[in-house]
Amino acid sequence: MVQTTRGSGRAPVGLELLGVQKRYGDVLAVKDVSLSVRPGEFLTLLGPSGSGKTTTLNMVAGFETPTGGSIMLGDKDITRVPTHKRGLGMVFQSYALFPHMTVLENVMYPLKREGGSGDVRKKRALAALEAVSLDHLATRRPAQLSGGQQQRVALARAFVSNPPILLMDEPLSALDKSLRTQMQEEIRRLHQEIGTTVLFVTHDQEEALALSDRIVIMRDGEIAQVGTPTEIYESPNSSFTAKFLGAANFVEATVARVEAGRPIELSLEAGGTAIARPTSVVRAGERVRLVLRPEDGFVEDSPQDAGNRVSAVFDEIVFLGDRLRCSGRFADGSGCLLWLSHRDADKIRAGQEVFLRWEPERSVIVPAEA
Ligand code: ADP
Ligand code: MG
Repeated sequence: MVQTTRGSGRAPVGLELLGVQKRYGDVLAVKDVSLSVRPGEFLTLLGPSGSGKTTTLNMVAGFETPTGGSIMLGDKDITRVPTHKRGLGMVFQSYALFPHMTVLENVMYPLKREGGSGDVRKKRALAALEAVSLDHLATRRPAQLSGGQQQRVALARAFVSNPPILLMDEPLSALDKSLRTQMQEEIRRLHQEIGTTVLFVTHDQEEALALSDRIVIMRDGEIAQVGTPTEIYESPNSSFTAKFLGAANFVEATVARVEAGRPIELSLEAGGTAIARPTSVVRAGERVRLVLRPEDGFVEDSPQDAGNRVSAVFDEIVFLGDRLRCSGRFADGSGCLLWLSHRDADKIRAGQEVFLRWEPERSVIVPAEA
């Protein structure tokens, strides 16, 4: 649909951050971040508030100058190139539309610098508006639109000039949940159609999962983990990542036996043994945590073999329509969460001890520290 933008035929470019750092006085907001965004990739920076996402994005945008390292856009070093010469598309949480201009004029605005006839610019702006299903509101002013519509105008304005890369900082945070989900679908479809490189920032894990080719988990100005949504969800490298992307139970354990390429044998602090998927660097005797996702646990009436199970008591069982959410405690007192199919509802009763089991290949270990 977005013929005009694609028609101008600019290939998406990659972005590279090399040891990028940003210091504000005593605060090291971003510490030595190195990262490659591939041409055409949708990459999301995900992390809690204050983890350095916006600062990182602002350095790519040119609003902030790094205090160390460099930034490459394609084969060009843009570390010190002013914002208006980077030619990037940008969308923020606040729509930042010009209130005195019509929707169409807003979207035409970035094309001004490109010259060309007014007719051509108008056509391109209308095509961009069509891509976000707003061409019928072209003559309105921003104040006459809903929040979601204004954000779609901001989106059209960001990609109308076919920028080599689109930067988005929490663009959907101001919208309510259902509109946000709908906009996520739209952004995904647009990315597929336009094929541009996207660097996206959010603190919302579901949003990151729904949109991204790859996710960068940020923590305290550093990269905690990089990977596809599946990679990070299934193989978190730390307790932090496991908790930040999805919900996780932690079973404290000690490594009993490791052998290259074989499942790792663990002895559980709460008693019993378990085996977990092989990971690279652990040694016998090391204290670790086994990560168990709430959907991977199940309750067995009379477990045949003694491994891969922990005793738990669930004191709150809530019917959520598609599943039961059971929360309670492991024998050692740490909290645990289980999502149970309604078919298994009779296997569990509030306040009664049960054995929680899991398939070894669904569990992974991470270092013991929090
Ligand atoms: P995020 O977008 O992940 O919430 P930010 O990049 O906004 O995080 O902030 C990262 C850290 O840098 C925070 O501790 C924040 O307080 C600090 N910071 C951001 N901007 C400035 C500034 N202009 N001056 C001083 N500290 C700042
Ligand atoms: Mg931010």
